[in-house]
Amino acid sequence: MRMTDKIALITGAAGGIGLAIAQGFAREGAKVAISDLDLDAAERAAAGIRDAGGEAMAVAIDVTDEAAVDTGFAKVVDAWGRIDVAVANAGIQHIEALDKLSLANWRKVTGVHLDGAFLTTRASLRQMYQQHGGGCILYIGSVHSKLASPLKAPYVAAKHGLLGLCRAVAKEGAAHGVSANVICPGFVRTPLVEKQIPEQARELGISEEEVIRDVMLKDTVDQEFTTLEDISEVAVNLAAFPTAALTGQSVVVSHGWYMQ
Ligand code: NAD
Repeated sequence: MRMTDKIALITGAAGGIGLAIAQGFAREGAKVAISDLDLDAAERAAAGIRDAGGEAMAVAIDVTDEAAVDTGFAKVVDAWGRIDVAVANAGIQHIEALDKLSLANWRKVTGVHLDGAFLTTRASLRQMYQQHGGGCILYIGSVHSKLASPLKAPYVAAKHGLLGLCRAVAKEGAAHGVSANVICPGFVRTPLVEKQIPEQARELGISEEEVIRDVMLKDTVDQEFTTLEDISEVAVNLAAFPTAALTGQSVVVSHGWYMQ
């Protein structure tokens, strides 16, 4: 097992990519804190991990709420003593052309991704700096950390911003044994993506099949979606990596949609 006795907190982990990462960490021996806006869903996710033989707790954290992030981290530290791995995963999408986009919707998307990642980072560093052995922070970026698509401006801007935040953490955290990396998935069929398919079809005036074939998977090498298991496996590898040789990096997991 690659993460025996590690303590991990994952934001937005009641479902989708966050839950898959939590399950992957638990299978490798980590104790996982499933944090999410939706506490009932987080409780169900944590129970599922316990039923499968892992150790998990649920904690309510809205990543845009400064006090909730700090309180949530404190609950996990009270229960388990430290945080070795934090994953800033919580995210939302909003499909709209820039000229129609309201400031409120811009702030909603960038708030969850960037303010949320900042608050998650700060709470992680405050704990990791004072514990023996430092820690590791993973950000869930996107292929949209590297390139743009139409109708997703606040998401694209926020996901690009995570690369900068990660690099800043890598520089500042090194002296305290903290590393930071970004995982950049291609399209994975989670609720976030399922919701976008009809929305994009409407906005672009094409069918849902065309959105999948001609928009989402057009530039992949094999017209395949990236899977939850792909992202979970990369997260385990990064979280278990033993040195700061891998820090400040971004790993694109997208069936060749974006090659760096
Ligand atoms: P999802 O909608 O399935 O899950 C997102 C989770 O985040 C939900 O459980 C939701 O309750 C939670 N959440 C939303 N706002 C929150 C907040 N303010 N505080 C705490 N939790 C909150 O989405 P997903 O596809 O699993 O996405 C997870 C991450 O992966 C996001 O950052 C997303 O941008 C990124 N991503 C997804 C894809 C994809 O194709 N699915 C591709 C690239 C990147």
